[in-house]
Amino acid sequence: MGCEISPSTVRTLRQGLKKHDTCLKCNRKARVLLPYGPQKFCEKHFVELIEKRFRKTVRRYSLIKPAEKLIVAVSGGKDSLTALYLTKKFFGESNRITALLIDEGIRGYRDKALKLASKNCDEWNIPYKVVKFKDEFGLTMGSIYKKIKRAKVNLGSPCAFCGTLRRTVMNRYAKRLHADKLITGHNLDDELQSILMNACDNDLARFLRCGPVSGIKSFKQFVQRIKPLCEIPENEIMLYADYVGIEYHSGYCCPFRGEAKRNAYRRLIDSLEEQYPGTKFSLWNFYMQIKPLLLKSKAFDGFALNECKRCGEPSTAELCDTCRKLALLRKL
Ligand code: AMP
Ligand code: ZN
Ligand code: ZN
Repeated sequence: MGCEISPSTVRTLRQGLKKHDTCLKCNRKARVLLPYGPQKFCEKHFVELIEKRFRKTVRRYSLIKPAEKLIVAVSGGKDSLTALYLTKKFFGESNRITALLIDEGIRGYRDKALKLASKNCDEWNIPYKVVKFKDEFGLTMGSIYKKIKRAKVNLGSPCAFCGTLRRTVMNRYAKRLHADKLITGHNLDDELQSILMNACDNDLARFLRCGPVSGIKSFKQFVQRIKPLCEIPENEIMLYADYVGIEYHSGYCCPFRGEAKRNAYRRLIDSLEEQYPGTKFSLWNFYMQIKPLLLKSKAFDGFALNECKRCGEPSTAELCDTCRKLALLRKL
């Protein structure tokens, strides 16, 4: 969700560095300043720090077990390509890894991103599968966008359609590829924006879906989604990707992007972090403390999951969100 991130956000990781500042771990010149430490690092030790954090998150929440088959959902952006790179680097020997590239049919945008994604997969020797919305649903995001714009009623943002359909594809192909876990590139900022947004929307179900493991409870039709980058801020991932030389898609946003609300939360959280360094990690730690308490509490009795009557995917209602959305589009 990094469309609003700019190189200046990465520049904040260098601001305040003085000419003779040295790395916390060695005597080399410091290149990065993490204001919440505050800690200074050279390039090598910053890279090491990010890799340590990735592995710590995996260990702390038992995200990956030996021999599990892993599917990494790769969009071609910095986060998912970094997730793929790190998964291969640390679990390439112990686990089978396949990348899943979803082509929503957004011309001039996703096609370019997926080209980069597949190029990296080839370079890193990782098998990948491309799945198109057009083949799965008979529609592209281009045609869905037109339908939404032409409709007389307000159908909401195209992103809601895109996200829902994409999650269905992810789960469907994770099952078809016999995956034990599905990895996404969600970073700390993505998670915090969702946490705050869902709290402010009074949406407890979505609020509880945040965190390193998606899914409120296990369900045989649901492949667990894990987020090993969820404890790394977005600008640090961007800098890491640049330092290790990952070629990712950047530069402009999805042409259908109407994520005004998420961006408002992004600005709010970034501004708090700037005034009070460490806020992001504090909010995260707070969420991780209250989530299990809420899940255990009697007041919260969970959400029953069934199989969708039409497609068999997990659903809280008779028809899943994707089937309801597709039915709505067909009526137009
Ligand atoms: P986003 O909602 O765009 O921030 O994406 C969150 C995560 O979903 C990414 O880090 C990817 O792991 C995954 N993802 C998003 N778009 C795609 C796509 N077109 N193909 C595969 N995975 C995707
Ligand atoms: Zn160093
Ligand atoms: Zn369905």
